[in-house]
Amino acid sequence: DQDEEKLTEYMDELEFLAYTAGATVDRRFTQKMSQPDSKTFVGSGKALEIKEYVKENEIGTVIFDDELSPSQLKNLEREMEVKILDRTNLILDIFAQRAQTSYARTQVELAQYQYLLPRLTRMWTHLERQKGGIGMRGPGETEIETDRRIIRDRITLLKDKLKTIDKQMATQRNNRGKVVRAALVGYTNVGKSTLMNALSKSEVFAENKLFATLDTTVRKVVIGNLPFLLTDTVGFIRKLPTQLVESFKSTLDEVREADLLIHVVDISHESFEDHIASVNEILQEIDAHRKPMIMIFNKIDDFSYEKKDEDDLTPSTRKNISLDEWKKTWMAKSKYPTVFISALTKENFPEMKKMIYDEVMKIHISRFPYND
Ligand code: GDP
Repeated sequence: DQDEEKLTEYMDELEFLAYTAGATVDRRFTQKMSQPDSKTFVGSGKALEIKEYVKENEIGTVIFDDELSPSQLKNLEREMEVKILDRTNLILDIFAQRAQTSYARTQVELAQYQYLLPRLTRMWTHLERQKGGIGMRGPGETEIETDRRIIRDRITLLKDKLKTIDKQMATQRNNRGKVVRAALVGYTNVGKSTLMNALSKSEVFAENKLFATLDTTVRKVVIGNLPFLLTDTVGFIRKLPTQLVESFKSTLDEVREADLLIHVVDISHESFEDHIASVNEILQEIDAHRKPMIMIFNKIDDFSYEKKDEDDLTPSTRKNISLDEWKKTWMAKSKYPTVFISALTKENFPEMKKMIYDEVMKIHISRFPYND
């Protein structure tokens, strides 16, 4: 069943996100509904089932694979008496843990406050519970209002701060002159940083977790005497919180202002087609979808990774595909120049480099028509 498969993939991804944030997942619950319950997201029977499980097994947190409305969050927390996280909150948390520069930290803090503002009452419920509620007056509207005002002021401050940095970054980008700029784009964890390292011989942090890259890194790369700038950007992900898309404006500006997009795909991942679609959607959102693009299908060395089962030798396992066979697949028939590589073993790097060189050269020539 296709729906069933999709669901498993989504839950796998959520579990990976949870793991990246530092949690271990104890159990999954799923439910088929035509639309989420407006009060508790899942149906009331399912909510009860989860509640009982949480109690019995002393679970600390329940995570939902979607953004919950402020009231859903509040109701669920009251109902289940456990910490509730939604997908947005989880992603924000990972970003917060990984923000390294003051710019990234400011961006994440802004996104967090924007997420928090409509959910403010929730904090008070926590407080009430902590203090046991005995002799505690419920939070007065005025107290929440004061809090809201403090947060709104903070949001204004952070936005101003970002505006200043945005301007500086725009100036920096202008100062890079007419050198061709290429940006690595792709779903999170596909190997962008690894490829960046391989191409620029620099050391960019790469690890098998989601969003290892938060800040934009720009490196000078030279292929066949042709220098250009290569940017590694934040990994895209399905349902990237809108608060983040907005506050990561400058990071995305790198993509928006690039001359060439290098779209990296992890071909060993079962959902790589979905990943391509998600990335294209975000590119469209930021109006960067008409740029010249190269498709790089990465991790060809790791292709049989998901299905190591001996009995599993049907064509669908796609084991040990040779380079020639790759070139006959639909992926190779894209309207963009396409190449299959392994960033890890550097398999097929010469062909990839030639492809990048050709595309960069095209742009370079259009810019300096009288030189060669
Ligand atoms: P990013 O999030 O797109 O920047 O991805 P990273 O460069 O951090 O890589 C994510 C994980 O995939 C790391 O564990 C890498 O070692 C691994 N990886 C990257 N490229 C390849 C490849 O070609 N083959 C295999 N097997 N693993 C790779």
